[in-house]
Amino acid sequence: MMPRPSLLARLLPTLVLLGACSAGAQPRPATSPSSAKPTLVVFVTVDQLGSDYLERYGADFTGGLARLRDQGATWMRGRHDHAIAETAPGHATTMSGRFPVHTGIASNSQGVNTTASPLIASDDVGASPFRFLGTTLYDWMAAADARTRVLSVSRKDRGAILPIGRAKVDVYWYAMPGLFTTSRYYRDTLPTWVRAFNARRVARAYAGRVWEPLSPPDRYAEPDTNPLEGNGRDYVFPHTLTSDTAAVGGAIRDFPWMDSLTIAFALEGQRALGLGMEAGRTDLLAVSLSTTDAVGHRYGPDSKEIHDHLLRLDRYLGQFLDELEGRVGRGRIVVALTADHGISPFPEWRSSYYANHDAQRVDVRPAWRAAYAAMRAAGVDTAAAHDDDGFRVRDLDAFRRRNVDPDDIAAVWVQALRPLNGVLRADLVRDLAKADTVHDDLARRWLHMLPTDGPVRAVVTLEPFAYWQSVTYATHGLPHDHDTQVPIIFWGPGVARGVRGTAARVVDMAPTLAALLGVTPLEPLDGRVLPLRP
Ligand SMILES: [Zn+2]
Repeated sequence: MMPRPSLLARLLPTLVLLGACSAGAQPRPATSPSSAKPTLVVFVTVDQLGSDYLERYGADFTGGLARLRDQGATWMRGRHDHAIAETAPGHATTMSGRFPVHTGIASNSQGVNTTASPLIASDDVGASPFRFLGTTLYDWMAAADARTRVLSVSRKDRGAILPIGRAKVDVYWYAMPGLFTTSRYYRDTLPTWVRAFNARRVARAYAGRVWEPLSPPDRYAEPDTNPLEGNGRDYVFPHTLTSDTAAVGGAIRDFPWMDSLTIAFALEGQRALGLGMEAGRTDLLAVSLSTTDAVGHRYGPDSKEIHDHLLRLDRYLGQFLDELEGRVGRGRIVVALTADHGISPFPEWRSSYYANHDAQRVDVRPAWRAAYAAMRAAGVDTAAAHDDDGFRVRDLDAFRRRNVDPDDIAAVWVQALRPLNGVLRADLVRDLAKADTVHDDLARRWLHMLPTDGPVRAVVTLEPFAYWQSVTYATHGLPHDHDTQVPIIFWGPGVARGVRGTAARVVDMAPTLAALLGVTPLEPLDGRVLPLRP
């Protein structure tokens, strides 16, 4: 319906094209019958791509998202079956086949950041998989064939690190002042190809660029005039990326072009490392695209901006797949795609799509006041517990010295939470352990999240679509469908197309890929193998 090549040439960032055309070597597609083993597995995790985004805006897709959805084995409403629907636990689940309670990654705040592993060429906070437990698909592939090559790329540290687990391999993410780097957990210097990519000062090329809607105005049903977006600042199209070259490296993270930059970097790495280029060997490319999350947080899931960003993401992914197929060869690539979590609309935005009409903000401070009063009465320093994933004991000895059971204080917290508006339930973790996890979905999701003997002694679950009082942007993180439902898609040789009706969980993706590749997981998994053929 539209002149596609010129449209692509006009809309796609020059950098992706540059990545496709630079570096003179001719692609050497592995040539074998299409029944042969794939030479490349591409695992794409789109941050915040909930099922609703695909269902709501998917009719407009014509690019990579459409191709994967329509040609692949697709579970439109897959899900994360854990409670805290955030980036770190989601990414840790994708390729481990295990729930957060077994990967050790329960939330962003208990994720990858550590001063023990500073970054190379960036002052951003250090990061490593120091909390991650166990193995991932990469480890299983490498155990089956030591020649296996791997690259993981993301805008976010946790999005690059956690899908791979603990392996000290090529793992890179975007950091200030606007470059791709890694931490000293992985290496002491950046390889030549990463330095060459950064030397192009890629983010600066976008300084001053204007983000206009991709399609004609009548293609967007969403209003563009809600001041809830962006905290009332710059919430109407067009959006202009700062022309200050010192600031553009940070500002670009909220613009769709950040995803095309990430893809350009992934393509550069695929070429440098020769991923997928050798028949008989299967390599792994993990790409985590973070901009859907940035745009969704800033403007909300009902915004014209998220709609437009998804149209662009669809096109970026289409070109990414085209480029990879051109290099590696048709029928040699298996793609898996999912998301780390979904999103909830602003409570004040009565959504035309989500049933959030009773949504409210919840102030849990009264419960903390009650808990701290109980601690003071028992002679326990109030610093010994704090609000992090629930009622978290920070200093168990402070309780022991006063002969106080932390669960007794956590029970006070739970009792104070239950009557609050917007609180669905509050539970001691030890009580959740006795729940019927077949029928009690929320108890099961919390138990998939937290160990019953860990520092978090009690948890609170808000009503669907409720927000924490203090949050000033659109967000996610609850164990309900709007935050946990995500598409699960497999595409490529060995995968029969079709929409699958049966339930699928993100934790099932790694075992499914392992079965497809004929490699054996190195430990017991929580996931099971999904049917890729009818
Ligand atoms: Zn997010």
